[in-house]
Amino acid sequence: METVLLSDSEADLIKAAELIKNGDIVGIPTETVYGLGADASNEAAVRNIFAAKGRPADNPLIVHLADFSDAVNYTKAVPELAYKLAEQFCPGPLTMVLPKNDSIPMVTSGGLETVGIRVPSHPVMHRIIQLSGCPIAAPSANTSGYPSPTSASHVMKDMTGKIAAVVDGGESEFGVESTVIAIETESRVRILRPGCVTREMLLEFCNEVIIDHAILNELEAGETAASPGMKYKHYSPKADIIMIEGELDGFISFVSKHDPENTYSLIFDGDEAVFPYRHMTYGGNSSEQAHLLFAKLRELDEIGAEKVFVRAPSKDGVGLAVYNRLIRAAGFEVIRV
Ligand code: AMP
Ligand code: MG
Repeated sequence: METVLLSDSEADLIKAAELIKNGDIVGIPTETVYGLGADASNEAAVRNIFAAKGRPADNPLIVHLADFSDAVNYTKAVPELAYKLAEQFCPGPLTMVLPKNDSIPMVTSGGLETVGIRVPSHPVMHRIIQLSGCPIAAPSANTSGYPSPTSASHVMKDMTGKIAAVVDGGESEFGVESTVIAIETESRVRILRPGCVTREMLLEFCNEVIIDHAILNELEAGETAASPGMKYKHYSPKADIIMIEGELDGFISFVSKHDPENTYSLIFDGDEAVFPYRHMTYGGNSSEQAHLLFAKLRELDEIGAEKVFVRAPSKDGVGLAVYNRLIRAAGFEVIRV
């Protein structure tokens, strides 16, 4: 299959929407990462998404809508708290898991009776949803297990020959996937996947925000994940990633004893002033790190890095999302110095 690169002109967005209406898959920019979009109600199209990514069938897809008021068409019940959160965070990087109705096929929800609903703020994604008139199922547009794509060229690299088109809408603003929450009561939510809508932001609208155990911990054998994506190896470049937790001097001394000639380090902006070995930087604060992380992991593969020591990010605020992606990229290999 030929994969066409489209621009973000209205004429090209009309083409993208037509492809989706016809059951094809299109790579689409969003404010979080690029998504692989198809009509969420078209089972054959959704199966093709799973095939293009090599994604396990029990890993559910998020359904993207133009407006949160459309959620009633795809769900059995929408709690008051969901409307309250939507007023604040939709459109934006928040996904709410709600009981699905029959308009969402089981293949889309990975066999679950629930569906994750998100209203993206990126004007290209928003316009394509409007023009297609479809609820758009869109997982991250990477090969399953590999770092998520934050530019059209990342998507072309993973998906050329597998999907109909990619729309180039520039670099993704946030750079990590949406915050996924389950609404447990009218005053309690559980974060299933951390993102740029943080625990602190959610706490302004409900009494309790639980960070699910699987966000920072490896699942035990046989333990079921509230968020199925958390049980798979994820976000992982070809290079072997090892997270090093601690201050810069401890990090430098660790690297000095671990083959600095043949390894790379991924460090914070500013560290490079005193860091004497091969390195790349990934931002100086949590938002910058979220924006840059996946692109840097992909770049490390491009330059042929085999082993990479990464300075562990802060777990505060947006940092939790960065830490969550990195600890998975590292296969939970964390060394404290
Ligand atoms: P991605 O499509 O790559 O952004 O990953 C979406 C992730 O959101 C999945 O891997 C799940 O972890 C989570 N998710 C989506 N839908 C649901 C759902 N119905 N229940 C729980 N988690 C969900
Ligand atoms: Mg993904």
